[in-house]
Amino acid sequence: MIEGLLNPWIRNLVPYSSARSEFSGSAEIFLDANESWEGESPDINRYPDPFCRTLRKEIESVMGFRSDMTAIGNGSDEIIDLLIRMFACPGKDCIMVERPTYGTYSVFASISGVDVIDVPLTASLDLDIDAMLMAIRNSKPKIVFICSPNNPTGRVYPLSSIRKIADANPGITVVDEAYADFADGFQSAVSAIEDNPRLVVLRTLSKAFGAAGARLGILISCPEIQKVFMKAKPPYNVPLPSQQAGLNAVRNIEHVRRRVAETRKRRKDLSSFLSSLPYTIEVFPSEANFVLFRVPDAEALYGYLLGKGIVVRNRSSEPMLENTIRITIGSEDEMTKLKEALCEWSC
Ligand code: PMP
Repeated sequence: MIEGLLNPWIRNLVPYSSARSEFSGSAEIFLDANESWEGESPDINRYPDPFCRTLRKEIESVMGFRSDMTAIGNGSDEIIDLLIRMFACPGKDCIMVERPTYGTYSVFASISGVDVIDVPLTASLDLDIDAMLMAIRNSKPKIVFICSPNNPTGRVYPLSSIRKIADANPGITVVDEAYADFADGFQSAVSAIEDNPRLVVLRTLSKAFGAAGARLGILISCPEIQKVFMKAKPPYNVPLPSQQAGLNAVRNIEHVRRRVAETRKRRKDLSSFLSSLPYTIEVFPSEANFVLFRVPDAEALYGYLLGKGIVVRNRSSEPMLENTIRITIGSEDEMTKLKEALCEWSC
């Protein structure tokens, strides 16, 4: 069923067989991978596990995602890139994204010579289901990307809407849940994969798990797609220190829970603070670790904050988001300094 959706050269791919994929058991002496016999720190002279088995097992036991349904990418960005290369034919196929959303879906498609169909969100920044269904019928995208909670709006889309689109879409639907851990009562699309094997979910350890520097994205899919992904990815795509950092992050789930609770509290606090500012036009409700708000002159406010040593994101170039600024939730101290600076600003 999935096979027919793959690019033919991926369907017939004979994967590279690395030393560590050919033999991964225990042995006394490893002389098979042309590694150095010595390194500058323990184990760094050795290639890492190509399949991140220990990390995936830990993810299964802590996060509940079955290990035959997961694969680890060098950030979810690598997974997005690879999924496009697995399913969409350069110069022929297209992908579909809601707009505004996270930018790499479109950029990776463009790098691969794959067209992008943008479907604008509704005025209330929700998915325009009818427009998406029509675009699916008319343009037959190979992949539909949906980001929930959406970056940069912070909006969660109901699982029923996502299911409606994924079930009507004969191609692959990718739901990027990078910010899921920050959302209240979040209903993940992972539960829907069983009924719809064309559904793929992305998670990352870059946000709530605090490991952005390690570059660890998680693909969650039916075992058939997972197996093809394992064949198509670079042999040693996740470095050893990153696998170790990922294990540490997942094992310390109590730290994650504490950070998420603090982040949510500060998000609520920042949202009401921003609403109380005389120059704020609109604060967008957020289920992620950032808050988007509208001011009369976003460029001027951005420049002013930069002058105070505070870097935020000006999102004004996105359709429907004229004069908006996105602020990531930081530490208590960082939030206090930000609020002081915002108090001093007047238009
Ligand atoms: N998805 C979304 C929605 C994001 O906002 C980001 C990064 N800002 C990513 C994926 C990338 O995640 P990673 O660090 O795992 O590549």
